[in-house]
Amino acid sequence: MKTLVEGLRRFSSDVFPNQKPLFEELSRGQKPHTLFITCSDSRIDPNLVTQTAPGEIFVVRNAGNIVPPFGASRGGEEASIEFAIEALQVSNIVVCGHSQCGAMNALMEPEKVSSLPSVSRWLEHASATRRRLLSSTSSPSPKLSPAEENVLVQAENLRTHPAVSAALRRGVVTIYGWMYHFEEGIVTVYDPSRGVFVSSSDVRDRALTSPQSLAL
Ligand SMILES: [Zn+2]
Repeated sequence: MKTLVEGLRRFSSDVFPNQKPLFEELSRGQKPHTLFITCSDSRIDPNLVTQTAPGEIFVVRNAGNIVPPFGASRGGEEASIEFAIEALQVSNIVVCGHSQCGAMNALMEPEKVSSLPSVSRWLEHASATRRRLLSSTSSPSPKLSPAEENVLVQAENLRTHPAVSAALRRGVVTIYGWMYHFEEGIVTVYDPSRGVFVSSSDVRDRALTSPQSLAL
């Protein structure tokens, strides 16, 4: 707690005064451009990775960056997604997995979390990820890691949410699949045309679901 209290003091005395105009502007309302869905893992800092300021990204976090299909869990994810799309009108949705994800390890080896009933139940929302990976193990070199496959599964679940599907139909939102490799300080992005995660240097052309592809 001492660490947190000292941090609060430094924020109030050093950081806040330097960014006062920004916080004054934010006091009039938020207009984030992106809904950012990622894991609760303490090694991820969405604002740090994307070099964004307060007010720019609306963040939803949970173990395994999971998006339960619409109606499968009346939890905060569903409400936050609806709010981001309908009320805040974000134009991007990023589902961001990461390297060394404990939730993905548990998903592939469920016996490791057998003593954690809530975690086990939560990971059922990612069971499709496990099924896909187990069915592809006959391949000599599976193209995607569990965390990468999970990003795609959760992006598909996103589309079951009425607010997301309606925004996709209107062409006002785009979904991206990202993987954060914290040990290397890089993010890779899913390229649907190649079926793999690639360098993030050209993110715009690598939407999972763009209005154009939806129209085909
Ligand atoms: Zn994780």
